[in-house]
Amino acid sequence: MKPTILIVEDDPQNRKLLAELLALKGNRILDAPDGKAGVALAYAERPDLILMDIQMPEMDGFGAIQELKGDVRTRAIPIWVLTSYAMPGDQARIIASGCDAYITKPLDLRDLLTRIERQFGATNPDES
Ligand code: MN
Repeated sequence: MKPTILIVEDDPQNRKLLAELLALKGNRILDAPDGKAGVALAYAERPDLILMDIQMPEMDGFGAIQELKGDVRTRAIPIWVLTSYAMPGDQARIIASGCDAYITKPLDLRDLLTRIERQFGATNPDES
């Protein structure tokens, strides 16, 4: 069974690219343009994985992670931060945020797909 993946990212082009790529691989995709909408969608849909940008309007990635990891309904959902380390100290803050992994931007899409397949036990014979 392919996972449901929630993409929380304010950049429309990045969001669309990721959503299309992951949907092509058979995953069910949900997406949100800011942290607040992402948290609401996570509560409503309980995705299997959340890919989380940090710098976003309404609520940033740190705020969204804090909410989701502080709530029994969502704290078991893995959150992978997508980050470009825009600010000094970002890396330390991200590690301390409670996220399950972080992936640096610009994204290596092949590496991201491999990680997702590893996480959810891909069975695609073409990929061995
Ligand atoms: Mn952003």
